[in-house]
Amino acid sequence: MPQHYSFWNLVREALRGHRGWGPVWRDATPRGAYDVVIIGGGGHGLATAFYLASRYGIRNVAVVEKGWIGGGNVGRNTTIIRSNYMLDGNIPFYELSMKLWEGLEQELNYNAMVSQRGVLNLAHSDAQRDAYARRGNAMRLHGVDAELLDREGVRRMAPFLNFTAERFPIVAGLLQRRGGTARHDAVAWGYARAASNVGVDIIQNCEVTGFLRGPEGAVTGVETTRGAIRAGKTGMAVAGNTSRVAALAGFRLPIESHVLQAFVSEALKPVIPGVITFGAGHFYISQSDKGGLVFGGDIDGYNSYASRGNLPVVEDVCEGGMALMPMIGRARLLRSWGGIMDMSMDGSPIIDASPLPGLWLNAGWCYGGFKATPASGLVFAHLLATGTPHPAAAAYRLDRFATGRVIDEKGQGAQPNLH
Ligand SMILES: Cc1cc2nc3c(=O)[nH]c(=O)nc-3n(C[C@H](O)[C@H](O)[C@H](O)COP(=O)(O)OP(=O)(O)OC[C@H]3O[C@@H](n4cnc5c(N)ncnc54)[C@H](O)[C@@H]3O)c2cc1C
Repeated sequence: MPQHYSFWNLVREALRGHRGWGPVWRDATPRGAYDVVIIGGGGHGLATAFYLASRYGIRNVAVVEKGWIGGGNVGRNTTIIRSNYMLDGNIPFYELSMKLWEGLEQELNYNAMVSQRGVLNLAHSDAQRDAYARRGNAMRLHGVDAELLDREGVRRMAPFLNFTAERFPIVAGLLQRRGGTARHDAVAWGYARAASNVGVDIIQNCEVTGFLRGPEGAVTGVETTRGAIRAGKTGMAVAGNTSRVAALAGFRLPIESHVLQAFVSEALKPVIPGVITFGAGHFYISQSDKGGLVFGGDIDGYNSYASRGNLPVVEDVCEGGMALMPMIGRARLLRSWGGIMDMSMDGSPIIDASPLPGLWLNAGWCYGGFKATPASGLVFAHLLATGTPHPAAAAYRLDRFATGRVIDEKGQGAQPNLH
C-alpha cells in the first residue's frame, strides 16, 4: 500500500523514531514489453508517465533513465516557475503549467516547496519598458496576472538594487506575482513517487542505446544496457541529449546542445523577496529557503554535451550581478554547476510525432523547461494517449521549422546563443 504523507502520519512516525517510512518509489526491473516506454527520467519524462497513468488510464508504462532520477536538468536548474510569455503559441501552455503548479503538491501528495514569491523583470530603457508593457498586456488579455511597476514601485520592492550612479538605470519592472520557485529535485521525486504509486515502472541505470524497428522503420521498442524492451509507443524526453538519441533513431532535429551554469552563495539572511531578472545583461537571482543566493546568466556560447561550463560565463554573470546589486560582491560563492540545454531554433519546444511511426518527441526546452514540467507531462501524455496534440500545445509542431510558423518569443531568429 503506497504511503500517504499527512500531518497525522508525520506525528505517528515522529513518535516511533521514523522507522515506518518505506522507499519513496519502487526501483523497478525492466519487463519485456510495455504499452508506453518513456526515455528519460527527468521532470518531463516522469510527469508524462504520471499523467498517462493518472489521467489517461494507461498504467503499463516504463520510464527508462540512463543515470538516476533527478540527475539531469530537473535537479540542476535555478527553480524558477512563471507564465509571463507573450506569443499566442506559448501563453496558454505556460499558464496551464502555472495552474498545475498551483495544485501540484495536493495532486502528488508531496511537498515540492512551490513558492509563489513573484518574478520581476527589470527594464533599463524606455524601449524595454514598452516591450514589457506589451508583454504584460498580452498576458492580461489571456487572463494571466501581470503588473507594470515604475522605478519607485521597483525600489519599494527591492531597495537593495543599484539606484545611485548606476550604469544601467532601472526604468520599470514587469511583475508576475504568481510566478516564483519550486524545489527542483523535490519535483522529480514527487512525480516519481506519484507515478510509481499508480503502477509506473521507474528503471534507473538503464541507458537507451538503440531502437527496435518494425515494418517500414516503425519504432517498436528500445535497446538498452539492460536488454531490449518492446513498446506500443515510445516517447523521448531526454532534454540536452535529444540530438544524440535522435541520432540513434537515424534523424536530425533543429536543436543544438549548450551548457548553462548556475551558482549558489553561502546562506544569508532573507534579503531578496522573489525572482529578479536584470534587463541589461545576463543575470537573474532569487534566494532559496535555506538562504543561499541562487543565480545564473546565459548559456556558454559553444555546442557541448559536457555538464560543466567555462570561466568567461562566470565572469559575465558576476559582472551582471555587480552592476545590478553591488552588495552581491560581499557574498561568497558556495558552488556552481552546469546542465545541458536542448536549444531549439526558435526558443520554443517541440511536442509532436517524430519522423518515425511509433516514436514521439518532447524536446527543445532551452533553458526554460523546468517551469513547463507539469504542462509538458500532461500534454505529452495526451499526445501519446490520443495521437492528437493537446489544444494548449497545438503550436509545438516539428514542421513549423519547415513551414516558417516559428514561435520566436524573443524575435531573434535561429540563434541559440542569443536566446
Ligand atoms: C543551470 C540551469 C538553470 C535552469 N534554470 C531554469 C529555471 O529557472 N526555470 C526553468 O523553467 N528552467 C530552467 N532550466 C531548464 C530546465 O532545467 C530544463 O529545460 C528541464 O529540466 C528539461 O527537462 P527534464 O527535466 O525532463 O530534463 P532532464 O532532467 O535533463 O531529463 C532528461 C533525462 O534523460 C536522460 N537520458 C538522456 N539520454 C538517455 C538515454 N540514452 N537513455 C536513457 N535516459 C537518457 C538523462 O540522464 C536525464 O535524466 C535550467 C537548466 C539549467 C541547467
